Amino acid sequence: MTFIEKVVRKIWEPIDAEYFKAYEEAKKKDVDELFKLHARTKMKYYPYVGLNMNYVDTYGCPYRSKNGILSGCSMCDYQSEHAKRQGSLLALREKDPKLYALAVKRGFQNTRGERAVPQVIENITGYDSLDFDEMPEELVEELYGKNELFSERPFIYNIEARAASVTREKLEKLKKIMKGKKRISIEFGVEVHDDWLRDNWINKGLANKEIIQAVELLHEFGFTAVGNILIGIPGLTEKQSIKVFVDSAVWLDSIGIDKIVALPLNRKKHTLHGYIYENLRNNDELLKVGLAQKEHTGLPWLFTIVEAFSELYRKYPDTFHKTVMTEINPESNSITNEVGYNASRECSCAEKYITYLNELTFNKEFDSLLKITDTFKEDKCYKEYDELLKRQEKCGNIYDTILIVGKELSKSMFKENWKDTYKILCESIPNPIDRRL
Ligand code: SF4
Ligand SMILES: [Zn+2]
Repeated sequence: MTFIEKVVRKIWEPIDAEYFKAYEEAKKKDVDELFKLHARTKMKYYPYVGLNMNYVDTYGCPYRSKNGILSGCSMCDYQSEHAKRQGSLLALREKDPKLYALAVKRGFQNTRGERAVPQVIENITGYDSLDFDEMPEELVEELYGKNELFSERPFIYNIEARAASVTREKLEKLKKIMKGKKRISIEFGVEVHDDWLRDNWINKGLANKEIIQAVELLHEFGFTAVGNILIGIPGLTEKQSIKVFVDSAVWLDSIGIDKIVALPLNRKKHTLHGYIYENLRNNDELLKVGLAQKEHTGLPWLFTIVEAFSELYRKYPDTFHKTVMTEINPESNSITNEVGYNASRECSCAEKYITYLNELTFNKEFDSLLKITDTFKEDKCYKEYDELLKRQEKCGNIYDTILIVGKELSKSMFKENWKDTYKILCESIPNPIDRRL
């Protein structure tokens, strides 16, 4: 087992217990009773201008529960606060996929109404909508098939999935079910461009070659391929995060992706950076090199987010023009979270930069990125940012940085046995000659 899989399993231990307890209890219930219970819930729904995000209520991410133990991607937590309901839904899924499908569809209708009025783009999705265990064919049919959810067809249907689930067989089925619907985009998490980093730090369980294959297959079937990448990598320095973001966008562009969605890292409790914040924010070793920053630990600075976007615009304008950034807003997320800021949350620059970034998607005044980065120094938070960047220079390259964080993480999580786990991380680091980061 990799170092990061051990770490993420540990972070999810309490939620795992809650989830499977709810599952065991629900298994004892009568199937009709279970159905009635879940048919009453309301799906999470976030409307934006021209776009609705509909997160249908399933039993959770199948990748997270793949071995019967909750783990998953280290930066992700869309589940911890829904564990009881989702554990119970897993029991309904096992007992009767048809009733599970109907209950999930009811959740959509309880929120949006029957025959909902669509916006231009409707994102209707589970965690991995091409995983037919989480989304059995009965459910795919209910959501995307001929029993229309909407009063008229949305212009674009967006569906989220894991790139590893994009197979010829699944796309053939989806295409058949969605017959007559023309513009369909499939969105998947790429997070970073590098296999080692994605495997050993993000715990994504997804190789570049699978992403390349997914893009090719989607195009063959006439679907749009949308890849998500991170601005802000848990545990890395601000500068490393900027570089990884730009390299990831450029790599995705090079393999023919149609659209790139940049997600600025937010902080949730059951994530790698959430753990580092809870347990290591005052750790001396990490404070010395700027990898812990007390209250700020685990959140990218807004200067970093603007600079990352700006650097992509300056250096790779063609890639930039297919890139959008998700809204920075803790309210538009199904889990309690905190978003980035500069030296202090109270400084007026927090609102200034967040409003600026959120409006940029709509006003498209991209030249302003060059102007705004030029004026960073005028902000009173900048001095502290500059000092942090200097401290973080001591971290070395990305592998060195991960070893620094990994050592303190191991001590904090695995106590007297910490060396055994840390050794797994050390052994995973490539030889100097093979390093790419
Ligand atoms: S990022 Fe996606 S695949 Fe990874 S754990 Fe979260 S929902 Fe599952
Ligand atoms: Zn400020």
